[in-house]
Amino acid sequence: MGLADLHIHTIYSYDGTASVPAVLRRAKEIGLDVIAITDHDEIAGSLKALELAPQYGVQVIPGIEITTAEGDLLAFNITQVVERDLPLIDTILKVGELGGFCIAPHPMAGGLGMKSLSAYSILRVLRNAKAAQILIGIETYNATTIDKMSNHYAHILGSRLDLAKTASSDAHIIDTIGLGVTEFEGYTAQDLVKALKTGDVGQRKQKEWNSAYILGSWATHYIGSAFTRLANAA
Ligand SMILES: [Zn+2]
Repeated sequence: MGLADLHIHTIYSYDGTASVPAVLRRAKEIGLDVIAITDHDEIAGSLKALELAPQYGVQVIPGIEITTAEGDLLAFNITQVVERDLPLIDTILKVGELGGFCIAPHPMAGGLGMKSLSAYSILRVLRNAKAAQILIGIETYNATTIDKMSNHYAHILGSRLDLAKTASSDAHIIDTIGLGVTEFEGYTAQDLVKALKTGDVGQRKQKEWNSAYILGSWATHYIGSAFTRLANAA
């Protein structure tokens, strides 16, 4: 059984704190087979991971978390940024034109300025024949969401939809990588994509992290990484 964490942020995200090599090292250390770096409206970290992956023995699917007019959207298997703030269906169709596919992250979750897709938005996509082919998954377990009820709602919504149900960490700090993991038959990125397309994936959930701890840890790491960025920019 392969293990994948498809929702990880790095310093290429405005809110991430981990470097790409650190993420790859950690993924290998905890036994993940496939990961995706999905920075907010930024793909450079993901492409860097794709390039470095063979050195770390982990497979990488290129990804991005796109800000759409209706909330966040994960897109995979694309290697360029898709314009932000567009209507959801337009965004999904663009991802499709680029040969990619999408997963709805932390549906219905709110808090801390986070904007998530509503059940209504997701259902509207699924009624659009073209867009429905591209939106193939829903993240029904997000290990680090601040909105504690959202996993429960996402699970209920997901159970009624013909979509792959994924579990992810949405890690913004190194320590939370792998707290939510999608299981699949096989172990390669190709096996994972195949399993997502047929919906044949399982979930491995670690205990949700305490929000206060995540925020504290994030703040500590963020201040550190801000210094690193300043040093690198100098
Ligand atoms: Zn995210």
